Amino acid sequence: MLRVRFHANIQDPRPINWPVKHPYWVTGEGEDYAVIVSYADDENYILANWPEASHLISSEIDGYIFTDRFPKPKWFVEQESKLTKRAPDKCPRCNGRGKVRSTSNSDVMCPLCKGAGTCR
Ligand SMILES: [Zn+2]
Repeated sequence: MLRVRFHANIQDPRPINWPVKHPYWVTGEGEDYAVIVSYADDENYILANWPEASHLISSEIDGYIFTDRFPKPKWFVEQESKLTKRAPDKCPRCNGRGKVRSTSNSDVMCPLCKGAGTCR
C-alpha cells in the first residue's frame, strides 16, 4: 500500500468519487493548491479520484497509521462498520420461522425470539 502526499484543487479538494476506498486528509494549502495525504493501492488510485492531482510523493507502507494529526476519518469509520455489519443469527429455537409447534400441534410465537426469527 502507498501513502501519497499530493497537490489538489484548492477550491474543492474532495475526491470525485464517493465513498473512496482509503482514508485521506486535507493537511494544508499552498498559494493555489490544497495538500492532501491519502492512502492508495497505487498512484492510479490517486489519479482516478483526484484527476487534477500533481506533485505526488509516495511512500510504501504496510497499513494505515492513525495519529492525532491523522485521526481515523468519521466517514471511514462509518464505511468500515457498514462493511463488517452482518445479518443477525437465525433463532436456534425456531430456525428463523418465528413460530414453534406447541403441544396442541398449532403454531405459536417462538418464546425465544418473540416471533422475530433472529437472535442478537
Ligand atoms: Zn425463535
